[in-house]
Amino acid sequence: MRDADLILVGGGLANSLIALAVAARDPARRILLVDAGAQAGGHTWSFHQTDLNDRQRQWLAPAIACAWPGQEVRFSRYARRLRTGYASLTSASLAAALAACPSVIRIPARAERISAKRVHIDGQAWRAPCVIDGTGRIPEAYMALGWQVFVGVELDCAAPHGRDVPIIMDAQVAQNDGYRFVYTLPFTDRRILIEDTRYTDGSVLDEADCLAAIHDYAAKRGWEGAEARRERGVLPVVMAFDAAAFWADAAGGAVPVGMRAGLFHPVTGYSLPLAARVADVAAAHACDTREAFAAVRRFALQEARRQTYSRFLSRLLFRAAEPEQRRRILEHFYRLSEPLIERFYAGRLTLADRARILIGKPPVPIPRALACLSERPLLKAARRKRLGEEALLGANAEGV
Ligand SMILES: Cc1cc2nc3c(=O)[nH]c(=O)nc-3n(C[C@H](O)[C@H](O)[C@H](O)COP(=O)(O)OP(=O)(O)OC[C@H]3O[C@@H](n4cnc5c(N)ncnc54)[C@H](O)[C@@H]3O)c2cc1C
Repeated sequence: MRDADLILVGGGLANSLIALAVAARDPARRILLVDAGAQAGGHTWSFHQTDLNDRQRQWLAPAIACAWPGQEVRFSRYARRLRTGYASLTSASLAAALAACPSVIRIPARAERISAKRVHIDGQAWRAPCVIDGTGRIPEAYMALGWQVFVGVELDCAAPHGRDVPIIMDAQVAQNDGYRFVYTLPFTDRRILIEDTRYTDGSVLDEADCLAAIHDYAAKRGWEGAEARRERGVLPVVMAFDAAAFWADAAGGAVPVGMRAGLFHPVTGYSLPLAARVADVAAAHACDTREAFAAVRRFALQEARRQTYSRFLSRLLFRAAEPEQRRRILEHFYRLSEPLIERFYAGRLTLADRARILIGKPPVPIPRALACLSERPLLKAARRKRLGEEALLGANAEGV
């Protein structure tokens, strides 16, 4: 007996993209999308147009809220306009794209238990041959992390703000609390998202301080208006990830995807490009949990190997560089060629790219960079902590 062909637990980015990809491939497949609730005020997810291939662009197109023909970056010593297109989805545009798929039914509820073939909601079991877990909780126990924290305010300006393309990093701002930059997305000629972002060692977000910085940034540009929406984020920057242990421990359960499976960019914490690729993989195997698990696991382990270099860059940022030097690393990076920058964001760096990023006057002291070469010490520490916590849990359970 089955209640659907596919149950997606968590209706965030990863599972929404899987629903769109499955519906595009097989509109007859019945999909249940179970979600416990939306972030107040909604969400935006942005990406570089070159992050996706043609097929992904096609099935994602109905969910795109806004697209721009270029983007800018600004550092203390230079500013640069890049030709790479940029685009954003919003909670509303993603929900509308899903609502247009008759095979997708959304259930607004929290799943109490998730297993390979069943999902329990309000004590009732829902069955499907394939269950996918996109509940968003990062597998921190298998990782060593730094953090990118931010607050974004969408401002309804009283007059046109004058911006035509996003500024991905405006680091021409005071540098405090780690590396800091402002990110802007001009949705319409009067509506603009202004995000204050900091690369910090801890995951604490000082919302009041970020808000003050955003209003100061807007005031300096003469942008006055009402706050229409606010979002906040504490995104992981991954310095080490024991992907093999994570997937071994997840075996036998539902298929983990998205942030839940560590499927995001180690330096930016962004997940859309990988979520689109996983959606294609999952869509091709979504008839059975075991088959989908094996396919996504294979993809994820391959990706984790490819991300080895990006995790090294994260270690350079967080372990070798002083906060001031973090800005210099990014400043150096953004002087490189546009195709290389595009490949970095899409997670497709070549060997030559990797060498190119590190060539030149090193932005961090060489002995400290060398000390970051291996992720093994961080992996060992994560494993020790994980096993210690498991032992503690076991002892507590026995004591009950
Ligand atoms: C404010 C913000 C802005 C971001 N901007 C970008 C961006 O521009 N581009 C980009 O690529 N990345 C961005 N990211 C990073 C990343 O892509 C997002 O976090 C993305 O939403 C992760 O997708 P996900 O599906 O793995 O998790 P989520 O989108 O967080 O989805 C998880 C969902 O699971 C639901 N859930 C959890 N537990 C249960 C349960 N037991 N039962 C039912 N439902 C449950 C939650 O309600 C949630 O909706 C951003 C993150 C944040 C926080």
